[in-house]
Amino acid sequence: MSNETKEVINVTRPSMPPLGEFLPYLERIWTSHILTNGGPCHAQLERELVAFLGVKHIALFNNATIALVVALKALGIQGEVITTPFSFVATAHSLLWNNITPVFVDIEPDTLNLDPAKIEAAITDRTTAIMPVHCYGQPAAAVAIDEIAKRHGLKVIYDAAHAFGVRDQNGSVLNYGDLSILSFHATKVFNTFEGGAIVCQTLAMKEHIDRLKNFGHDGEIRVIETGINGKMSEINSAFGLLQLKYVDAMIAKRESIDALYRKGLAPVKGIECLNVFEGVPNYAYFPILVNSDFPMSRDRLYDHMKANGVNPRRYFYPLISEFPMYRDLPSSDRRNLPAAAHAADRILCLPIYPDLEAASVQRILDLIAQV
Ligand SMILES: *Cc1c(COP(=O)(O)O)cnc(C)c1O
Repeated sequence: MSNETKEVINVTRPSMPPLGEFLPYLERIWTSHILTNGGPCHAQLERELVAFLGVKHIALFNNATIALVVALKALGIQGEVITTPFSFVATAHSLLWNNITPVFVDIEPDTLNLDPAKIEAAITDRTTAIMPVHCYGQPAAAVAIDEIAKRHGLKVIYDAAHAFGVRDQNGSVLNYGDLSILSFHATKVFNTFEGGAIVCQTLAMKEHIDRLKNFGHDGEIRVIETGINGKMSEINSAFGLLQLKYVDAMIAKRESIDALYRKGLAPVKGIECLNVFEGVPNYAYFPILVNSDFPMSRDRLYDHMKANGVNPRRYFYPLISEFPMYRDLPSSDRRNLPAAAHAADRILCLPIYPDLEAASVQRILDLIAQV
């Protein structure tokens, strides 16, 4: 095997704008001496993102995890929150950081998102909110979820870390529920090295959140709530301004990779691709399900690919509900989460990023087809 001579392909690789184009932004920061605390780049990125995404208000953050923690705090969420076990661990960690008990509800087998038909049975008199995830950028059943929430007087906080730019028939999916949280981490579709944001429906809520991310300060000498430091710096904001100029082109490149995978995998027995939804996707991930009629188990295929210089990832295995701080909750029992457990055992995310070459996609397809 000649894999020593072949470049290793990871599940993702951040796209970088031309370095020279970042220098004027740095000069602007060097001239102003404003490094953080809601400077001009921060204000400009908020304005540009509101326009680009088609949302009402945005509060930028240093990362999505702090943004999730602050979102729950801003809405005064307590008691129990219904959420999905099939996500990145930060979704549920944000609940524990607020002393909230996660209640895991199973997912839909086709979208791998929170199953609205299972939510009502999990509502108790301690339930105050629902926290769905738009997993892989595929919209959760938001119309149904928001309707259930309204009927039961619950808040809805969407972990939209994967859903940058995603639209359905109603426009941006970031406008569902009370708040939506974006991640601008290096591995996401739009990155600011580290970063995140909360999409808000009212200016009053944005101002509240802006206070919470700045220690709870209200002016120079008044502190009116227990805030945290969640601010995005000027250098991250400046990088975001530059990235925003390229993000449409980057998503278009992802789309063509997605198409190559779908075409190449269609004849492979036992490999199932997730459906593309009708709307504007962002091609953030390329998840496949390795079914029992494939000649190898998911983990054997994963090892086989790694041995050949390709590093896919098993997002999201294990389920969040299987980590030690969650596994003793009554809702964490795998019998309560059969669709999530079945997906976690078969899921594999193949490499997808704007600069992934067609020849590399072919190399990955050959590795799977050879089995
Ligand atoms: C990446 C991610 C987060 C955390 O984002 P950070 O910006 O790294 O804190 C939260 N939820 C989901 C679903 C994610 O994929």
